[in-house]
Amino acid sequence: MFTKRIGIDLGTANSLVWLAGVGVVLNEPTVVAVTVDDNRVVAVGNEAKEMLGRTPGNIMATRPMRDGVIADYRITEAMLRYFIDTVIGRNRFFKPEVMICIPTGVTQVERRAVLDATLSAGARVAYLIEEPLAAAIGAKIPIAQASGHMIVDIGGGSTEAAVISLGGVVVHKSARVAGNKLDEAIAIYLKKKYNLIIGERMAEAIKMTIGDALPEKTTVEDRRLKIGMEDRKLKMENLSSTVHSQPPSSMLNALSSKMEVRGRDAITGLPRMLELTSSEVTEAMTPVLNQIVAAVKSALEETPPELAADIIDKGIVMAGGTSTLHNFDKLMTQMTGVVCHVAEDALLCVVRGTGVAIENIELYKRSISKR
Ligand code: ADP
Ligand code: MG
Repeated sequence: MFTKRIGIDLGTANSLVWLAGVGVVLNEPTVVAVTVDDNRVVAVGNEAKEMLGRTPGNIMATRPMRDGVIADYRITEAMLRYFIDTVIGRNRFFKPEVMICIPTGVTQVERRAVLDATLSAGARVAYLIEEPLAAAIGAKIPIAQASGHMIVDIGGGSTEAAVISLGGVVVHKSARVAGNKLDEAIAIYLKKKYNLIIGERMAEAIKMTIGDALPEKTTVEDRRLKIGMEDRKLKMENLSSTVHSQPPSSMLNALSSKMEVRGRDAITGLPRMLELTSSEVTEAMTPVLNQIVAAVKSALEETPPELAADIIDKGIVMAGGTSTLHNFDKLMTQMTGVVCHVAEDALLCVVRGTGVAIENIELYKRSISKR
């Protein structure tokens, strides 16, 4: 078997590649740097992300996927080519078969655009799978069953809530709010409250470091509890062994709910630093979090009663990077009244499902389209 098969998750924030028989072989930000005058691609992925917001006048770093769909066809093609070349090698004799996952609800024109970009990037055959199905396969949900499952994928650009049964998507809601909008909300909050202008990378770092979906009170208690428990475990371990161990630094970090933020003062124009608390970040993010939850609720409202009963039994599975925001599963559970939990390896579900689908085309053929 010489034909290599690869699955690609072309996300708005991160793109991942799965090589059949191997697993995830590439995981890089969906960023491409091009020259302004002749539109030449100069860097892709990690290298290009480093350039975001720091480029000299003649180079522009862009994100070719906006809100989950292709915003710039030519750049997306360059990106796909880079992935295929990196994984397969440039001088290839056998062209690979490529499966790409696309959001549910993209138009026929957009589907064609993805397929064409994949073929001209060097694929022999291009397949498409809808993202919620890929996410569900990756989260090890048995999608072929005659039973309802709900999967919510919250990524960088969009939130996709879907109810799946018998290998297909029965109900689907998409909202173009997810991680990026959380970053934006944090930046706007700082500008309004402190006249501090920060870049998108700083905003994302704030979210990941001290971001919390629930107000601080509960979580500080939670954290204390957790640390208390770890402390006791540690003490017991110390009692039973003569080796004196230091508390792991992660435990100390868990208590810090403040962060130093650097940016530029909107009035003086000079660099400035301030200390931001976790509860301020929660306050900034709450309206966006509510919009994400609203998308999930409206999918639930449209779910036929039999399937809704299945979902109440099994709970909702969350995937995608933003689902790993601290306490987001708790907030989602509180607001929907259905138990929600984050899938294992939430950031990898979609690529894993796309890869498993191309490894088992026959099994999933009902869920796949081809060109
Ligand atoms: P996409 O599929 O759109 O590329 P991903 O599933 O890769 O998106 O998720 C990327 C998003 O997840 C980004 O907005 C990123 O900031 C966010 N993210 C990743 N890790 C965390 C974290 N620990 N806490 C909060 N957000 C996170
Ligand atoms: Mg994704």
